[in-house]
Amino acid sequence: MSKGKGKPKSKENADLLLVNAEEVLTLSSDTAKPRIGKQMCELGIIHDGALAIREGEIVGVGKTHDITKAFKGASVISAQGKIVLPGFVDPHTHLVFAGSREEEFQTRIQGASYLEILNSGGGILKTVKETRRASVEKLTSLGLERLDNMIAHGTTTLESKSGYGLNLEDELKILEVTKRLNQLHSSHIVSTFMGAQAVPIEYRGNTEEYVTLVIREMLPAVSKKGLAEFCDVFCERGAFTLEQAKRILVGGKSVGLKPKIHADEMSLLGGAEIAADVGAISAEHLIYTSSNGVKAMADKGVVAVLLPAAAFSLMTGKYANARLIIDSGVPVALGTDFNANCWIENQQLVVAMACHFMHMTQEEAITAVTINAAHAINRASEVGSLEVGKRADAIILNVPNHRFLGYRFGVNLVDKVIKNGRLVVDREKQDEPVFLNKNE
Ligand SMILES: [Zn+2]
Repeated sequence: MSKGKGKPKSKENADLLLVNAEEVLTLSSDTAKPRIGKQMCELGIIHDGALAIREGEIVGVGKTHDITKAFKGASVISAQGKIVLPGFVDPHTHLVFAGSREEEFQTRIQGASYLEILNSGGGILKTVKETRRASVEKLTSLGLERLDNMIAHGTTTLESKSGYGLNLEDELKILEVTKRLNQLHSSHIVSTFMGAQAVPIEYRGNTEEYVTLVIREMLPAVSKKGLAEFCDVFCERGAFTLEQAKRILVGGKSVGLKPKIHADEMSLLGGAEIAADVGAISAEHLIYTSSNGVKAMADKGVVAVLLPAAAFSLMTGKYANARLIIDSGVPVALGTDFNANCWIENQQLVVAMACHFMHMTQEEAITAVTINAAHAINRASEVGSLEVGKRADAIILNVPNHRFLGYRFGVNLVDKVIKNGRLVVDREKQDEPVFLNKNE
């Protein structure tokens, strides 16, 4: 066919085009595995990039020139001067709880430790008391408000753990609320059962009996009702031992729940080794993990979910050794650890903390809140990168390039959020220009 002759190829229809982005961070790669080492720096950047979306799915990614040539968009959004990236994935939250702990925050400022507060019946046990008392309606409305905050800051997919019920009835209540929130809100929620988050007050001094309750009654009930995909446990002094954690995770596996573990957060117990041993999808916190634990995780491909905001809120000044973990070939993801003790709904701030306190580069941190976070919750085939066939979850940030992430912090950089192909947050429209009212 000679050049310039013949019919021009007709354009494919699309519902939405995002065009003229300074950068589109596709996070695309030829590996289907979580990114490790240097791969964490490869963001698959397209300059002057564009995205075509149809029926909630990505149907085209490329240069603006090529995408506008191939697709006709029913609506078109310009991202000029801005960047486009996958919606953030938050792989670790404790979304559903009632009450708050701002009084206790003050005693922590004055020097009380997490375990001291727990031993005096405060901390998580206070939240358990308030959550048990709360109705499904109350917990649902609290959850929706938090999800609104999260999506306004760019989080389109998140994991949520139960664990403020600590008895069969209230754990099921929390998981039912989680299911309801997933139906009501445009965010996508992945559910984790964490009945072993703490030893409830009525079992104090009798942890073994509570472990039996979790394994014999809670796990089968949660699995039968199909209320969770993962099982998590808090392996720590004052909570569950290595041996108990392992039994709970193996029990979870036997009823079809994939293991996750809160490991080595406040002391070195060896939770990372247990994660490798039971074939956990992820191990979380890892502040005190030894190099042996890191090696065991690398050998088994366990994702490290690092939670710098949790470390920040513990106020010990100690953070996970992200450099050692990344350089050892363990895939790293980042999460908020949103909970009553660490009230953060913003993955942008987590990126800033990862850069400042753990010496992760912006590229590594971006990989950790997108594709690797998706791997940590078994959703990497659907979200976490901008590739044809994936769910159209994308965010536009009001910065000229990706290195502003982590560098400019404390304000919300989100301009727009697209979830399942639908524009759900538009801060350009929602923000009133307050300066107009300066002179009365
Ligand atoms: Zn947690």
